[in-house]
Parts: sequence; C-alpha cells; structure tokens
Amino acid sequence: MQESKRTIREKRTVRKMMLIYCHHHHQTTGEIICPDCNDLLNYANQRIEKCPFSPDKPTCKNCTVHCYAPKKQEAIKNVMRFSGPRMMWHAPWLVIRHLLDGRKDEERIEVYLKRKKTNI
Ligand SMILES: [Zn+2]
Repeated sequence: MQESKRTIREKRTVRKMMLIYCHHHHQTTGEIICPDCNDLLNYANQRIEKCPFSPDKPTCKNCTVHCYAPKKQEAIKNVMRFSGPRMMWHAPWLVIRHLLDGRKDEERIEVYLKRKKTNI
C-alpha cells in the first residue's frame, strides 16, 4: 500500500523529534541515532503504519485510540515534551503542517466513525 503524504510527514516529524532528543541526551550528532532511540523510532513508525485511521490519521495528540504500549507511551511522551518546543527552531515547516493537520482532526474522526458504522 502506498503511504499517504500525511503518513510520510508524520514519520518525518517523529524522526526529527527523536534525533533532537537523542543528540541532547545520548551525545549523537547529524543523522546518527543511538540503538535505544532507534528502537523507539521503529516502534513509533510501526504504530503510524498500523494506525486504524490511516490514511487520514489524526495527529497522535488528538487520537481517540491509544495504541502505544504503556512503557513506550511514557518514553515517547518524554521525547515529545523535550523536542516539541525545540522543533520550532529545527523544522518550523513541519511544526506548522502538523498543527494544521491537527486542526482538521475532529472532522476526520467523525468521518471515520460514520464509515465504520455503515460497514457493520
Ligand atoms: Zn538516543
């Protein structure tokens, strides 16, 4: 299945956040990411791919399905708390797109729920 632009964008955003976090906490540089952070990044990518809302997935903050295992959720929250504010410096365009994506989420979730109802 082809990935939607939104899925690709979501993955890029997560990767960027992981890199910022890893550079500050694990002394990595450039495009290099440590094994632990890489594990978490792979996990996050899998969750994005398996998202039941795909291809119109909402941004994870607005999502009604909590698909992360508790430990991973805690870990990714830490990363986002740290990297979120810093993203504005590193990748302002991604942040703006992410916020715009988030604004349409209510609509998106409604459409998804309706579609689900009619399928049953
Ligand atoms: Zn790391």
